[in-house]
Formats: sequence, structure tokens, C-alpha cells
Amino acid sequence: MSDSRSPLTVILPEKLIDGVQDAPQEGMAVAFGDVGILWIGRRGDLDNVQSDVPRQILEFPNSTLLPGLFDCHTHTNMPGDGRTGEEVDRDDSDDLRLLRSARNVAEALSTGVTTLCDCGSWNRTAFSLKDGLAQGIMPGPRTLVSGPPLTITGGHLWFMGGEANGVDNVRATVRERVKQGADFIKVAASGGSTLTSDPYRAAFSLKELQAIVDEAHNRNLPVLAHCRCTESVNFALDAGVDAILHCFFADADGSYRYDEPTAGRLAESGVWLNPTMHLGRVSRAHLQRIMEQRPFTPAEQERWERSNRMAGTAMEQFGRLISAGVKLIGGSDCGWGSYPFGDFQGELIAMRDAGLTPMQAIQAGTRNPAAALRILPQTGSIEPGKAADLLLVDGDPSANIQALRQVRTVFQQGRIVESARPATAMD
Ligand SMILES: [Zn+2]
Repeated sequence: MSDSRSPLTVILPEKLIDGVQDAPQEGMAVAFGDVGILWIGRRGDLDNVQSDVPRQILEFPNSTLLPGLFDCHTHTNMPGDGRTGEEVDRDDSDDLRLLRSARNVAEALSTGVTTLCDCGSWNRTAFSLKDGLAQGIMPGPRTLVSGPPLTITGGHLWFMGGEANGVDNVRATVRERVKQGADFIKVAASGGSTLTSDPYRAAFSLKELQAIVDEAHNRNLPVLAHCRCTESVNFALDAGVDAILHCFFADADGSYRYDEPTAGRLAESGVWLNPTMHLGRVSRAHLQRIMEQRPFTPAEQERWERSNRMAGTAMEQFGRLISAGVKLIGGSDCGWGSYPFGDFQGELIAMRDAGLTPMQAIQAGTRNPAAALRILPQTGSIEPGKAADLLLVDGDPSANIQALRQVRTVFQQGRIVESARPATAMD
């Protein structure tokens, strides 16, 4: 007698975006309980729904019902206040980082994110976060974690605890992640902002990368690869990763060059790309606010100059890649840099700015990441049998994507999220 007694909730939205069809539908009703979505149909057919539990009917005029958002790239340990990874490594304990994770995931859920990936946390913290969520200690989305990313000695994010070298050792490290409870494998296939790493070179050898992918796929875990240069993108394609994060076309000397052959490979392979374009916009806005208050430190000055040089480049690159036919998934990278949790929507708006239609951007933030992370049977669209992970926003985001920020109500696995609130633009 467990779930059958939970009441049936019926939502009557003005419009329904189910995450499958290309246009919003009107006059629809969606019925669900905490066991999942039971029925979707025309309002007039609601009487046909067979159920002996009490039903509550909620009507939302001027609102659109869509699948809960799925942010496939976050760092829940990180504050998103401009501190670097090295600073958080030096100054914070794992206990403090875990507390911050608890706050951050609650923030994400309140603003409409019902599933997220943590793509890199220190030591065991992400696994503890998952345990805490499973025990209901604090609110948070469905959370998928990688634990410490696999990285070469001194490579990007090495301080999180995932250094591994050589084919045998990287295999063993993937096996350890499986044992710890990882939902996917994150690998730093190039360097990044980590000081001892080189963002413009591939990090692992192709043989190491292939061993990582082979071992992960053997346990049905997807592999997400951080790639900040063209060489690493090609290695990731050769190794057969599932998703490429950042996917930036830089040569070994650090210069940007749109690479046609690589673009063709990306489109043909069907690999998922996560552009992380909003991170730069938020960073520039953050530096702008600092500049209005006091002179820059040398590090800030350098970041400001680099950021302005890069402004528009990623947007242009992804515009061309979208025309070439690549598949995108939404991931904010929030927690990192100056991008705090609470506006995943900014990245979906950036994708629209780069060339996706609003509907394609919505699918990139719902259905596509669920497919990439291999949990589409459970969530990512509004279909019978799936979890009732739902978002109600004021207005119609397929007409005006800014409406995605107008969060009105969130349901997580059929239960209302009391703390739901609109997302605030940070750029
Ligand atoms: Zn990241």
C-alpha cells in the first residue's frame, strides 16, 4: 500500500512543451503521481483517466509546462565567486566543500533544474552528496556524479584527487570510480585553467584515452571529455567519448582557428557537444562590476584582456558548428569561475544566441542531456512512465526563451518544490 494512495495531480497548462514534439500544444492535461507520469491527453478526455485515488486539478493560465531542466555540467564544490580551483583547494576543507555542494544543488532545484551532473569534485565529496540526497537530508535534483576527473599528473583539476597515468593505471582508476558509485566518467583530455596544465595540448595519449573509454563503456558508463584545443577534440573523437565539454578550436600555440575537418568529424560522429558559452559572459560582467569599484589586480587585468579577446569567438564557432549539424547539450559549468548556481537558463539562452531555435535550446537543456547520460527512459521529456520532473514557467519559452527564467512551479518526481523561484540573469 505504498504509492497507490498518493494523490493524482493533474496540471492544465496554457501550453505544453513535452520535449519530444517540435511545437507547443494547447488544451492539454498531464496527470502524475510520485510514481511517475500516468497520462497525457486532451483536457476533454480527462474523464477517461482510470484512477481510484483523489485527484487535485491545478490550472495554470498563461504558463507553459515543460520537462524539468537538466544541467549536464556543474561543479557543486565550487563557490562561483571568482575564486580559482587552486584557491578552493588551498583554503577549503572537504567538509566545507560538501556543505557548499548541499547549498548549490538546492539552489539549482529551486530554479528549475531537476537533474544535474557534477563534473568534478574533490575526493569523496560528490559521492557523499549523492548519499545525503538519497537519504533526504537536504533538497536537490537527481544528481549524477563523476567524482574526481581522471587527469594526468599536474593536469586540469589534478587537485581534486584523480591523477592517473599509463594504460593500466587509467583502467584501474575507472574501475575505482565504478566501485565508488560514479554515474559517468569525466576525463580532462586537455589542460584547462589549472596553472600546471596546458589547455592547448592533448593531455592523455590516445592509448590512455581509448583505455578509459573502453573500461567505462564496458560498465555502460558514458564518458564526458573536457577539451580546450583541437588536438584533444580529435583524440576524444578517436577514442569514442560520448560528450565533449567546451570543445574549443585552439592550436598548440594558443591561437583560435576554426578547423573544418574537425567540424565535419564532430557533425558526422553524432557526439554531444557542451559549449559552456555563458561562463565567459558572466565572467566579463563580474569583472566589469569589480572595475567600477576598484583597480584590477594583475591576475584580474589578464583575465579581463583574455576574456575580451575571446568574447564572441566561442559564439561564432558554435554558430558555424550548428550550421554544420552538430548536436548540443546544455551544461553551465556553474560553480566554476564567477558563475554561481541559479541560472542554468543563461547557457540555454546563449545557445539560442549562437543559432539554435528556442525549441532546440529547450531540448538541449532537457531531452538531449538525458540521452547523453543514458537516462532518457527515466527523465528528460514528458511521456507516460517517466518521472514527473516538471517545470512551469510564465509565458511561452518557445516564443521568447527569456521566459525560461520565469519559474513558477517545479515538481521533482511528482512532488512540489516549495522553494521554487525565478532565475536571475547574471550577465
Ligand atoms: Zn567544468
